[in-house]
Amino acid sequence: MQQILNYVNGRLVAPISSSYLDNINPAEGKVYSLLPDSDLRDVEVAVKAAEAAFPLWAAMPFEKRAAILLKIADLIDRDLEKLAWAESVDQGKPLKLARAVDIPRASANMRFYATASMHVSSESHLMEGEAINYTTRTPVGVVGCISPWNLPLYLFTWKIAPALAAGCTAVAKPSELTPMTAFLFSKLCIEAGLPAGVLNIVYGLGGKVGQAIVEHPKVSTISFTGGTVTGKTIAATAAPMFKKLSLELGGKNPNIIFADCDFEQAVATSISSSFSNQGEICLCGSRILVERSLYDRFKTEFVKRTRELVVGDPLDEKSKLGALVSEGHMKKVLSYIELAKTEGGKIECGGEQLKLSGRCVDGYFVSPTVITGLNQLCRTNQEEIFGPVVTIMPFDTEEEAIGFANATTYGLSATIWTENLKRAHRVSHQLKSGIIWINCWLLRDLRTPFGGMKQSGVGREGGWEAMKFFTEAKNVCVKI
Ligand code: NDP
Repeated sequence: MQQILNYVNGRLVAPISSSYLDNINPAEGKVYSLLPDSDLRDVEVAVKAAEAAFPLWAAMPFEKRAAILLKIADLIDRDLEKLAWAESVDQGKPLKLARAVDIPRASANMRFYATASMHVSSESHLMEGEAINYTTRTPVGVVGCISPWNLPLYLFTWKIAPALAAGCTAVAKPSELTPMTAFLFSKLCIEAGLPAGVLNIVYGLGGKVGQAIVEHPKVSTISFTGGTVTGKTIAATAAPMFKKLSLELGGKNPNIIFADCDFEQAVATSISSSFSNQGEICLCGSRILVERSLYDRFKTEFVKRTRELVVGDPLDEKSKLGALVSEGHMKKVLSYIELAKTEGGKIECGGEQLKLSGRCVDGYFVSPTVITGLNQLCRTNQEEIFGPVVTIMPFDTEEEAIGFANATTYGLSATIWTENLKRAHRVSHQLKSGIIWINCWLLRDLRTPFGGMKQSGVGREGGWEAMKFFTEAKNVCVKI
């Protein structure tokens, strides 16, 4: 069986403990490879390697650094099919989604920050007749990058790329549930000639490896994407050590549909924004709010199209939804459907585990589920489910829609559907969300700030700002 290896100091190495964890293919419910069950000792070696590599990498001319990162992007493009396959097998997502979104966006991350590093400029401020201030920005040193399982290579590279482009070296930990694409990525780094120690990848459990990275005194900056509960633990550990923190956390995103929307586009895109990647995208809209005069029509059409979605073998081109990432996660999602029933919700469609045939007979599949009849404040509408489950609720006025939308502790993203331009702007300004899509969903421009408000995260940065996060500013004031 294939064994994944840590990537430390430029080499692929076994964990010091020689212990491995099972890597399960969720579409089959079977172990298909093994990943290192690393510990503190592996993190220690990785941090030492990153420290040793830092001076040379930070001092490398930016054209040379960019060329290496661009080479990695080219290799991702070359291996698109192989990486997409690995992402699909590891995570359960449809292969065609990995091919169309995850892997191209991973390569785009590398390319964007590689080229951004060539356009960095410094600032100066003249104090008329007295002095000139100039500001330098230098990379912070060794950074820790911790990423989740839902968009494995895409989110992994979104952290690594700005950090390395800024001149930092990194110790990274992908989710234990989806390690395969990071492993393939490490081989591409070697092929591209990334100097030893610049990127180190240590696999293992969050509470062990992740925690060791966050606690390590030589890791000054942490970039984390994952759940809000884990984010709190990380913040509690890092704050007394005065570490720089970027936290991209969970969401409970509203999708607001006004009666004057383009109905066809609103329904079609809402199907995607509810169920893409089995609803396992932090930006999925999980609470659909519909203006009352359109409510029945929207609900009927939305439920009809949800029923038509094909849940199946992720490797089958016809499948719109694949498997949930793990048995534990599937049970969590199913438990929320049961909770919704006890809270008075009506299951309009779905609501159960699906038993497929053939190789997927033991996989973790859940039918896409639409629930109505719940109030805003019940747990189903407050807590992140992170699966193919949405609720639909009516609203009467614009103010009510805004109130409902803002009525959770999260504030990651929101979507608004209306043909009324003034209303679109007015409502978007009142929503407490880091990203708002009007008449679209999941469009991404890497130059814009990304991240959530409230408990959806801190450290919203984009473009050059995301690289800036990995630098320290220094001002020099010169008397003239
Ligand atoms: P988790 O918070 O469970 O895990 C995220 C990462 O943190 C994993 O690599 C995990 O390792 C690691 N980890 C766990 N405990 C610790 C710890 N004590 N110290 C350091 N690292 C730790 O999230 P999931 O992987 O379940 O991902 C789903 C969550 O991510 C959802 O809440 C989703 O909304 C959020 N998310 C947010 C995004 C955003 O941009 N705002 C984007 C995508 C997802 P291990 O897997 O081994 O436990």
